Amino acid sequence: MKILKSVQEVREYVKAKRRKGRKIGFVPTMGALHEGHLDLGRDAFNYCREVIYSIYVNPTQFGPNEDLDKYPRTLNTDLQKLETIGVEAVFVPSDEIMYSKQYSTFVINDQMSKVLCGQYRAGHFKGVLTVVLKLINIVKCDYAFFGEKDRQQLLLIKKMIEDLNVDCKIIGVPIRREGDGLAMSSRNRYLSENQRNSSNLIYKALNYLKDNKSRDLPDLLSRAEKIITENNDLKIQYLEVRDENLNLVEDITKTEKCFVFAAVFAGDTRLIDNLEL
Ligand code: AMP
Repeated sequence: MKILKSVQEVREYVKAKRRKGRKIGFVPTMGALHEGHLDLGRDAFNYCREVIYSIYVNPTQFGPNEDLDKYPRTLNTDLQKLETIGVEAVFVPSDEIMYSKQYSTFVINDQMSKVLCGQYRAGHFKGVLTVVLKLINIVKCDYAFFGEKDRQQLLLIKKMIEDLNVDCKIIGVPIRREGDGLAMSSRNRYLSENQRNSSNLIYKALNYLKDNKSRDLPDLLSRAEKIITENNDLKIQYLEVRDENLNLVEDITKTEKCFVFAAVFAGDTRLIDNLEL
């Protein structure tokens, strides 16, 4: 497997592949890879012969009180996992490569980044959009793959690509879940046994909304909230139904495409999930 560390190395690698007529698929990640991350690559191979991952814990998307230093870093096992699905090149840049000392250009979405996670994680999506655009510009991929697990992020990235006329197709990949329904996440490893056992209630509450969507929405939301908060281990940060532009939905039955979004704390660990209704 080729570990690419500089922008130049990536560009040369991609150029050589293009000369052979290959399409390039790209999967950006922050590492600590699990099956959900590998699904992105597996899907990418359905579109392109050449699939490049990046592993980079992007500091600009973490707030001052967030878990940047604590974020799990497991590079060697990540590379082994990527080898098992046939990935031949991984971009592993340093902070110095991504952000020079005088770095000062950022991508901001003024609307969709202000709600849901954006309301509680100031600057998070500014960091995400900036690093994703930089990575896509470095790799110059034909397709880039993102998980529906981070639905707000996926919608924001699609909007950025459209608004800024970036020549790359964004593909959303379904959420990979544990057997009991908990969405896989690098942060699940921080859950205590009790927290882990209760955390499947999030998916249960999302499904309750999906299965009863003809009911009055405020009533439905408060019943779904109870499914989560009846367990003492869990605390809701938000539980909201929004459409594809992230506008609040008032009547699910009258909205063509909408999603329920949840952020829930299990102790200090923040879990997010969503479901199309
Ligand atoms: P992360 O490294 O956690 O930022 O995630 C990298 C990519 O993997 C993002 O596009 C995530 O949405 C995606 N991802 C993370 N967890 C899952 C999951 N359980 N199922 C599908 N995609 C996921």
